Amino acid sequence: MATETIAASINPWHVAQQQFDLAATHLDLSPGLRKVLREPKRELTVHFPVKMDDGTVEVFTGYRVQHNLSRGPAKGGIRYHQDVSLDEVKALAMWMTWKCAVVGIPFGGGKGGVIVDPKKLSLREVEGLTRRFATEISILIGPERDIPAPDVNTNSQTMAWIMDTYSMHVGYTAPAVVTGKPIPLGGSEGRNEATAQGAVYTIIDAAHHLGMDLTKCRVAVQGFGNAGAIAAQLMFAQGSKIIAVSDSTGAIHRPEGFDPNSVLVWKQKHHSVVGFPGTREISNAELLELDCDVLIPAALENQITAANAGKIQARVIAEAANGPTTPEADEILYKNGRFVIPDILCNAGGVTVSYFEWVQDLDRDFWTIEHVNEKLHAVMTKAFASTLDMSLKERVNMRTAAYMLAVQRVADATSVRGLYP
Ligand code: GLU
Repeated sequence: MATETIAASINPWHVAQQQFDLAATHLDLSPGLRKVLREPKRELTVHFPVKMDDGTVEVFTGYRVQHNLSRGPAKGGIRYHQDVSLDEVKALAMWMTWKCAVVGIPFGGGKGGVIVDPKKLSLREVEGLTRRFATEISILIGPERDIPAPDVNTNSQTMAWIMDTYSMHVGYTAPAVVTGKPIPLGGSEGRNEATAQGAVYTIIDAAHHLGMDLTKCRVAVQGFGNAGAIAAQLMFAQGSKIIAVSDSTGAIHRPEGFDPNSVLVWKQKHHSVVGFPGTREISNAELLELDCDVLIPAALENQITAANAGKIQARVIAEAANGPTTPEADEILYKNGRFVIPDILCNAGGVTVSYFEWVQDLDRDFWTIEHVNEKLHAVMTKAFASTLDMSLKERVNMRTAAYMLAVQRVADATSVRGLYP
């Protein structure tokens, strides 16, 4: 079966609950807390009309889910993708709860999504869709309530439209309602690069732990969006060799390595990484199984499954994407001595700098890029060290260790607040 077919047949919500159950068992969590943390607090489904360029009306379906608010307002991105489903958004919201807890930022988990392939829409249509979706979910969002951010196929322009729409509704300018905004609207220095930068900080820590020299490492990156492309650039700047990258149109390989900065220029022109001079075209599935040292899945869920986990050759798998590895695959990778930096830790740099952005907006006081990255580095290094300690102490893989830290923090906050009424 092709990787895409396998990925589509696995329900991410079941994966998220399975991962949670494993950690809850290790923590011996009380049955009551288990029941509470296993389900999202709120799930909103909206169907809304958008006027298309040709004058016709289309109805789109979108979701906003808040998983847990014990530690603070809901936080999490909004994705536009043709395969979005309520179960996917529920999983992504739960992952946000653990992600915020593992890096110790005071947010709960939320996520949104709209079923749409935005590449098939004009810019004006995407703006109309975004503004109407923002209006539909405005019963949930707000600087103290639920703060969206970019995710797959959304960006700082999307956030500007949501911020403007929300501000028009409330009658004043509310920059802190979203993060990942353009800098002139109260965005943060370093937010655009933060997911990749945070991932690279964890890769550096992992390499140090494993005694690997990054200047001698060969890196393969699946996905060439905000996380993947910038991760490739940053690893290249570290002195690593980038031997393969991919996007939704296909993958390219060159064992001697290539410059990802030039691939980005190529992709901007040709809307695909494929065809980049000097490289051989391979499939996304082949990319995952390449002979390399660091594999960075930076695309969608369920890419590493029981079907291909045994064929993964990379020593380090750094999950810049959310949910790229299934629980069955986790076991195989662990047995084979692969070191997985789990998504809730590896890609937490994005939401960490989102938190910095929110703080800056509320303070009306903005930081330099040096200050942002210094603080991000401190957060990521501390979270990596605590996760590694837990993993070694409890003899569990890095994912279960990160979950144990995160779930315990959320469970503590939930139980100390008590059950209302
Ligand atoms: N969408 C990103 C994530 O999955 C960022 C979320 C945020 O900054 O709120 O972590």
